[in-house]
Amino acid sequence: FDELDLVEARVGNDWDAVRGLLGGKGANLAEMTRLGIPVPPGFTITTQACIAYLEGGERLPDGLWEQVLEALHRVEAKMGRRFGDPENPLLVSCRSGAKFSMPGMMDTVLNIGLNDTTMLAMARLTNDERFAHDIYRRLLQMFGNVVLGIPDERFEAVIDDARRKAGVRYDSELQASDWKPVIEAFKAIIRQETGRDFPQDPFEQLRLAIEAVFKSWNGKRAVDYRNATGIPHTLGTAVNVQSMVFGNLGEDSGTGVVFSRNPATGENELYGDYLNNAQGEDVVAGIRTVKPIATLAHEMPAIYEQLYEIAKRLERHFRDVQDIEFTIEKGKLWILQTRDGKRTARAAIRFAVDFVNEGLIEPREAVLRVSPQQVERFLHPRFEQHVRQKAIKAGRLLAKGVNASPGAAVGMAAFDADTAEAWGKAGKPVIMVRPETKPDDVHGMIASKGILTALGGNSSHAAIVARQFGIPAVVGCHELQIDTEKRLFRVGAIEVREGDWLSIDGSTGEVFLGQLPTVMPDLHDPYLTTLLGWADEFRTLGVWANADLPKDAQRARDFGAEGIGLARTEHMFLGEDRLPIVQRMILAETDEERAAALAELLPIQRADFEGLFRVMDGLPVIIRLIDPPLHEFLPRYETLLVEIERLRLTDPTSPALREKERLLHAVERLREANPMLGLRGVRLGIVFPDVMKMQVRAMFEAACACALEGVQVRLEVMIPLVAHVNELRRMRDILETEAQAVMNEKGVRIPYAFGTMIEVPRAALTADAIAEVAEFFSFGTNDLTQMTYGLSRDDAEGAFLLDYLEQGILPANPFQTLDVEGVGQLMRLAVEKGRTTRPDLSVGICGEHGGDPASIAFCHAIGLNYVSCSPYRVPVARLAAAHAAL
Ligand code: ADP
Ligand code: MG
Ligand code: MG
Repeated sequence: FDELDLVEARVGNDWDAVRGLLGGKGANLAEMTRLGIPVPPGFTITTQACIAYLEGGERLPDGLWEQVLEALHRVEAKMGRRFGDPENPLLVSCRSGAKFSMPGMMDTVLNIGLNDTTMLAMARLTNDERFAHDIYRRLLQMFGNVVLGIPDERFEAVIDDARRKAGVRYDSELQASDWKPVIEAFKAIIRQETGRDFPQDPFEQLRLAIEAVFKSWNGKRAVDYRNATGIPHTLGTAVNVQSMVFGNLGEDSGTGVVFSRNPATGENELYGDYLNNAQGEDVVAGIRTVKPIATLAHEMPAIYEQLYEIAKRLERHFRDVQDIEFTIEKGKLWILQTRDGKRTARAAIRFAVDFVNEGLIEPREAVLRVSPQQVERFLHPRFEQHVRQKAIKAGRLLAKGVNASPGAAVGMAAFDADTAEAWGKAGKPVIMVRPETKPDDVHGMIASKGILTALGGNSSHAAIVARQFGIPAVVGCHELQIDTEKRLFRVGAIEVREGDWLSIDGSTGEVFLGQLPTVMPDLHDPYLTTLLGWADEFRTLGVWANADLPKDAQRARDFGAEGIGLARTEHMFLGEDRLPIVQRMILAETDEERAAALAELLPIQRADFEGLFRVMDGLPVIIRLIDPPLHEFLPRYETLLVEIERLRLTDPTSPALREKERLLHAVERLREANPMLGLRGVRLGIVFPDVMKMQVRAMFEAACACALEGVQVRLEVMIPLVAHVNELRRMRDILETEAQAVMNEKGVRIPYAFGTMIEVPRAALTADAIAEVAEFFSFGTNDLTQMTYGLSRDDAEGAFLLDYLEQGILPANPFQTLDVEGVGQLMRLAVEKGRTTRPDLSVGICGEHGGDPASIAFCHAIGLNYVSCSPYRVPVARLAAAHAAL
């Protein structure tokens, strides 16, 4: 470990390459040695040797063994002990360690070098027979398991017996006399299982252990883990051979794991656990109750102090929070591993900000260290760490599955979609529990607070639907034995019936019995606010929001939105008080009737817009004119038919019947074979200009009124679904005349612009012509995706599109993540063409993709001015936009 300089000379002073060669564990052990931190001496066999071994038909490459012996001699010299020496033996561990940490995926063997003779020497040297027997049985057990492939249960069963015989609870209470028969039994197991004796030759032990670690790179566990995490299979693992230090030499010894800061909350405090009189993985194995690290401050204050100093020093050195393994041998502290600690989203955000404040990193790096997904996760409701831990202690953790869709959910178990839907509609919180889900289940899933399945993985139907609708989900929870007939599931002896409360954590994959309290994210969390403030300094892309109502606009502004990129006006038509007026307008038989209905709508719309302008004082507001086909404001054709039939039978003279028949007539008139491609958007405006004229009048009257109050209004009027420039030209003429008329009446000038959505492929293709009339573009990528794919969203999502995703025909749902290859080309073209006509053309996106990090990166790359997304996604978009710029 003390020849790092030589390694660096070989691979260049490139830490990434050093880690590639030595593995993360080996590189950090060497670095700690160089820093003068107490690390037991040892050496690293490189990942290249591992690859050579595996590719060479599992033969040690020429010269390797000689180099191992040479390195071992240097360790012997440092330790003043000899490997295999019958009087003063050196013991070593043989530890795996790849470039990227793969926790628990590969193997490690401790106490190599022990045999019947050296065991006695260790007993003499330490004057502790119990200890010597304990480490020998551990070697037999680990060697038997890791190197010889014997199931660990065989050994554990023997230990269980020994504990029972001795009448003790813990291994550490067993005496030498208890261990002696265990050791003999272990040897017998090895003989029985492998047909030969445990190798007494320490060098043979070492060679076999090294080979076993090499081979563990291709073990099933490791291969599965790499497949799941995208770590290349070609990297290989390094092997670290390291002198043993012992945490099981009595009460002044121990072993533990410590984080330099709290990885759950982000708080700047040592966090971790330790055990007295224990070795290696006893802490993780959970065989005895561990002590919190704070206890060490009382038990061994000097050691605690030293550990604290080292943790802080490593943190400063590696400029990140460290996860550290340590062992205390008779009052001396040894560090056995350090690596960057895994963390929750909340902790990641706090670490990033604290590190900048402490001068360890620059804001730029802090921004890059937090992923948009972490911000998203931070914004979900969650179970607090102490709540989870308490529930686990209380035995309420039922099972653990795949964390498929983040967030915490609490609800009553429902075992089919119809029940889930019925309960959901009745206002009961539901967790829908199924073996797996199918497209038929979607209606129940979206009515649920959370989804739990026994089968499937991250790309199962349940997982995809859950993420799509932002519903927390745990899938592939194999421990659940679901009986849909009896409407219950079992985990071991526990039975959960329909209606019982469950709490699931889609971020960790945990399933709890009962109701756990959730906490809502603090949107004004000072760490998040600071981090996003830095992100704003780096991003060049604006972040706006889609909001129809003043309260949504206010929320968007609170989250940092710089404008409204899409205010839909038709939502305002659907209010209970307004729908009858809208229907009267649609049904009008004379111009007077229509004018009267519109006149009623005018003040209502005006009030809506005034609210928006006030909230967005000083910021741009893009209002889109009515877009959907008119029949969306009328009852469904089929419903009407049924009602009319019933009235004809029961009450043939009622005036209601006549009214309904009139409605039916209108619905029939407006019915379209393909409404998505029918009379909507600008087309509707051209056929019935009065509606859009009324809307423009309402906007400008509202704007003038607000301006007179001192509100700074920046109004942009957006015309939807334009395919041909002539449509836009005609509509703009009509509307701008109306706008001028209002401003003249009121004697106020409002800064305004007329622009269009780019959502029909033809508009994108002819963007240069469109830009002659449009003063701004906004990509409506929902429609643009539908029309480019020729895929009706309503028919595809929740139906065959999910098959496409499950079968891997499409890499992602194109309605969620922008189809860069297809739709993206149209966007790029439209930006280029539009700006040849109008170089300062402002271009944004207001489809749902505006809140998706990958899509945001693309929007940045093609030079959009801003993205507009739902208010809740504004924080995510701010960070994603910064990442795109950095
Ligand atoms: P993993 O990668 O699974 O954590 P490690 O190689 O880190 O495996 O080792 C497993 C356990 O054994 C750890 O707790 C580690 O601290 C301990 N350990 C490894 N080598 C030694 C050693 N030379 N002396 C004492 N403990 C050791
Ligand atoms: Mg391990
Ligand atoms: Mg480790």
